[in-house]
Amino acid sequence: MPRVRKTTRQFEKDKAAFFNQCKARHAVCWLCGMPIDYTAEKNTSDESYNLDHLYPVSKHAELQFDPAGFRPSHTSCNRLRGNQDPPTPIGTLSRQWITTA
Ligand SMILES: [Zn+2]
Repeated sequence: MPRVRKTTRQFEKDKAAFFNQCKARHAVCWLCGMPIDYTAEKNTSDESYNLDHLYPVSKHAELQFDPAGFRPSHTSCNRLRGNQDPPTPIGTLSRQWITTA
């Protein structure tokens, strides 16, 4: 699967800040609602942290660098999600993305 690897310094900073926030509040995976292993190296195991986007970057490239669309996910969940649009909301997560849709 071809992937656009465009990155900016600000994006890197935003990503790092987002990761630290998630880690500090033990944010759960927004796709499955289960805890994420923040001690694991990113993108290395199924339980490890992976930065997901509310809207798939492949369909909404313009939103790739927008921190408002960042979501914490498991590496495995993100992989399973692929390029799909936001999943059926789980519990309290629903409002978050419906209001921004
Ligand atoms: Zn998950």
